Amino acid sequence: MDKPPLKKAFTRSGGSGQADLQERFEQLYIAVEQSPVATAITDTNGHLEFVNQRFLDVTGYAREELLGRTPAVIQSGETPDAVYDDLWSTLQAGRIWEGELLNRRKSGELYREVQTITPVKNTSGDIVSYVTIKEDVTRRRAQERELRLMAAAFDTGQATLITDTNMVIRRVNQAFTDITGYQSHEVIGQTPRLFKSGRHDVTFYQRLWQTLVDTGHWQGEIWNRNKYGDIYPLWQSISAVPDADGQVCHYVSVFHDIAERKRMEEKLETQAMNDHLTGAYNRRAFDAALARCVNETQPFSLLLFDIDHFKQVNDTHGHDRGDLILQQLAQCLSGCLRASDLLARWGGEEFAVLLHGTGHQGAWVLAERILHNVRGQTFFGHRITVSIGVAEYQPDETHESLINRVDQALYAAKHRGRDTAVASEPASV
Ligand code: GH3
Ligand code: MG
Ligand code: MG
Repeated sequence: MDKPPLKKAFTRSGGSGQADLQERFEQLYIAVEQSPVATAITDTNGHLEFVNQRFLDVTGYAREELLGRTPAVIQSGETPDAVYDDLWSTLQAGRIWEGELLNRRKSGELYREVQTITPVKNTSGDIVSYVTIKEDVTRRRAQERELRLMAAAFDTGQATLITDTNMVIRRVNQAFTDITGYQSHEVIGQTPRLFKSGRHDVTFYQRLWQTLVDTGHWQGEIWNRNKYGDIYPLWQSISAVPDADGQVCHYVSVFHDIAERKRMEEKLETQAMNDHLTGAYNRRAFDAALARCVNETQPFSLLLFDIDHFKQVNDTHGHDRGDLILQQLAQCLSGCLRASDLLARWGGEEFAVLLHGTGHQGAWVLAERILHNVRGQTFFGHRITVSIGVAEYQPDETHESLINRVDQALYAAKHRGRDTAVASEPASV
């Protein structure tokens, strides 16, 4: 290196003597030697003239193993030739080259480094050496890979929403957009209040929040509103995420739409409650409803009825025709009932009706209407009649007792010649 520029670099402190210059040179040398940036100087033939301590630390070589040799010592053979072609053509043109090389430490371990190689020129503009500074980016690249992997997992995973501790939305993923209809720029900076459906009261959200604060986690079913105004059920799981000091810094909420699952559950529940031939409630559902009524204070009544001489219909026209008649009868009965009345297939060709909030009088009126309606129409071309037992529930009576009474009333109706109704007198409780 020519002296004038070096001298110039130190003129700030004013000294100009040889000893002073020597001292300044040593200062500079120490600065480079102790620099945290790996630094090397090579001559124009590419031989290493100087390497600093950091260079030795990164490569694992001793200084004498490197000086006088070319950087080929640390080349791994894994960097594409095109990178070196670019490096040399840039440097020979007198320009600074910056790029990434895959090198090998003395231990054999590969490492990535970003290098900046500067051609150093004398006052005539001739290249006299090259100064290389390099940064080991192996760990950074590994972290970047890890981050990319996490980002891919985030974007392909379940719908996810990340908020800060003020519940301000910081990030959402693609599945979130798929479910909610909101693009990320429409929700970032907002709070999840945006999704409130109005289906939950204040206590619900207070409890959710309290559980989250107490345990760091909450999960459950929640109804939200999407961008288009539709309200849908979600299964949501929210977790508090602590920072390095253990302080909560974010909340991560993962959810999936359970509307389909709920529809299936409802369908299965309906199937489990209904008689598959007539669509009326089955005996199980009826028993459950009856048990509920017994526990309520409201009056209620029971009708039990049975088709007259149905065996004969079956015997004459076949069982299939009998089934069709049963279906049509169930439809006819439904037409006579109020929404609060519950029709069930009691078994075979017997049906029961549970009349909520209805006393003896109302039940009797309905029994007569049923008799009238059944009489007045044909069922697949057949005229049928039914016999009906009627009973109002008496306070403190067991439901077995009520069933027993209504069954006896039905039996009495058959005995009286059929196509009639008989009421069980309260006195007979
Ligand atoms: P009554 O009630 O008037 O005394 O005479 P009935 O002939 O109806 O006698 P009962 O009620 O004892 O007989 C029930 C008959 O109903 C027997 C069977 O042939 C018919 N039955 C019962 N369940 C079904 C069913 O699911 N489908 C069809 N098609 N017929 C049924
Ligand atoms: Mg019967
Ligand atoms: Mg019968």
